[in-house]
Amino acid sequence: MSAQSGTTDTATKPPWDVVVVGAGTAGCYAAATIANAGYDVVVLERKTESEAGHIACGDALKGADGFPDAIPMEQIEPAFTNTGVDHGRFEIPQEDTVLEIPIPGELAVIDRLEYGKRIIDGAREAGAELHYETVVTDVCQDETGRVTGVKAIQRGEPRTYDATVVVDGAGSLSVLQDMVDFSGSTFDTNVDYSQFSSAYREIVHVDEPVEWDDALVFKPTERSAGYLWYFPRTETEINVGLGFQMSEEPMKLVEDLKRDLRARPEFTGAEVTDKLGAALPTKRPHDSAVHPGFVAIGDAAGHVNPTTGGGMAGAAYAGAYAGEQIIEAIESEDVSEETLWRYNERVMDHYGGRFAALDVYNILVMASDLDDLTSLIAAMPGDKLSEALYSGKASVGWKVKLETLLKSRGHWGTLWTLYQTKQRAEELLAHYEAYPSTPERFPAWQQRRDELMDAVYETTGAEPKY
Ligand SMILES: Cc1cc2nc3c(=O)[nH]c(=O)nc-3n(C[C@H](O)[C@H](O)[C@H](O)COP(=O)(O)OP(=O)(O)OC[C@H]3O[C@@H](n4cnc5c(N)ncnc54)[C@H](O)[C@@H]3O)c2cc1C
Repeated sequence: MSAQSGTTDTATKPPWDVVVVGAGTAGCYAAATIANAGYDVVVLERKTESEAGHIACGDALKGADGFPDAIPMEQIEPAFTNTGVDHGRFEIPQEDTVLEIPIPGELAVIDRLEYGKRIIDGAREAGAELHYETVVTDVCQDETGRVTGVKAIQRGEPRTYDATVVVDGAGSLSVLQDMVDFSGSTFDTNVDYSQFSSAYREIVHVDEPVEWDDALVFKPTERSAGYLWYFPRTETEINVGLGFQMSEEPMKLVEDLKRDLRARPEFTGAEVTDKLGAALPTKRPHDSAVHPGFVAIGDAAGHVNPTTGGGMAGAAYAGAYAGEQIIEAIESEDVSEETLWRYNERVMDHYGGRFAALDVYNILVMASDLDDLTSLIAAMPGDKLSEALYSGKASVGWKVKLETLLKSRGHWGTLWTLYQTKQRAEELLAHYEAYPSTPERFPAWQQRRDELMDAVYETTGAEPKY
């Protein structure tokens, strides 16, 4: 299939099997999965070829040993610049404490631009076409509501791309979903800015190796429920950044970061080589991310761990799961919501339920007295915090419970709220394990989930955000 035949304004037959919008992690994994199966895939990317893959990120790749195999691991591994990180250092200045918390599983700090280029190459080598400088501006639907393609501006020229399926991998601020009439499906439209975080990062070079090149360093921001991070790409190249939930008062991000950098002797005379900022969804995943002829993946569907902000692994798996389901839909000549639904199930089963449970802690943090909460966290055992942070639940024995109780004198009210919140999070996780297998059973599941969320808001005292 030639690129020209796919870009006419009057095509009557879908010339592309799949149009993927966005050459990020999600889009590249979806495109590679579908192209590997021999289907015609085009990836539309608004950036130039040289800028594509340059994405704001903390560069910490969790689950670095087990990405989907649509793009071979050997293809991306050369972008891993530090595979020696095994723990998080949580600096809690008001308690004069540093918590050392193990990070389960494999983690690599990466050169994000190199990784971005390599996954684009992976999609291309699988057989996908890449169209750069192509900004998608609209989504086409037929009279039944099925999505049939997109409209774009390519280097100033209008283009229409017809397709059997459109994949929205256009990131956290994707405009595609604003253009679609979802009235014929259960696609999640309950999305609001307050469910997102704003984040900014710099790449900083220091003269002397840092002592903590085996750790991800975190520190709470002074004025709101956000955190600063220092992630060592190498012992002399550090990704430094910060983020905060958008429901907070706006923060002068760069100023806060600069102030903290000035206070750290190891950054004296450091050189900043790159600066980028962006939004990321710190919310539960979309309840459903499928509509006839349309699938949303990665940040565009809220596939980010809402407590850590990690989204690359979720994006890669969403791309692969969506790709596999789209292949099935194309082969059965049925791109209905029912056929695409299995993608939702796989996402919820793998990480969606866990992220929804972790979002409960996010909600608690937003409603809490932060000094009280950080002091309490400082009194908790690091390995149990690690379990809670990554799995969404932690099993704590009686001895540890008693020790924590003694250490956390003065914060028992908060401890009780935390305990009750943990119960709510576990109830929610259990409910996501029963995510429905068909769209017909979805409304009843969603109604029960909303009841569980009401209990979360009651327990935490938070303003409802969904
Ligand atoms: C500051 C910051 C730090 C982060 N740190 C980490 C971290 O350390 N570890 C981690 O795992 N995750 C981190 N994340 C989250 C992670 O970067 C995202 O979850 C991940 O990049 C999502 O991948 P994606 O493919 O869904 O979207 P993206 O990577 O955002 O890709 C979307 C692509 O779509 C293109 N696009 C958008 N709109 C259009 C359009 N209309 N037409 C054509 N193309 C379009 C964009 O140019 C982009 O190339 C961080 C995010 C931020 C903002």
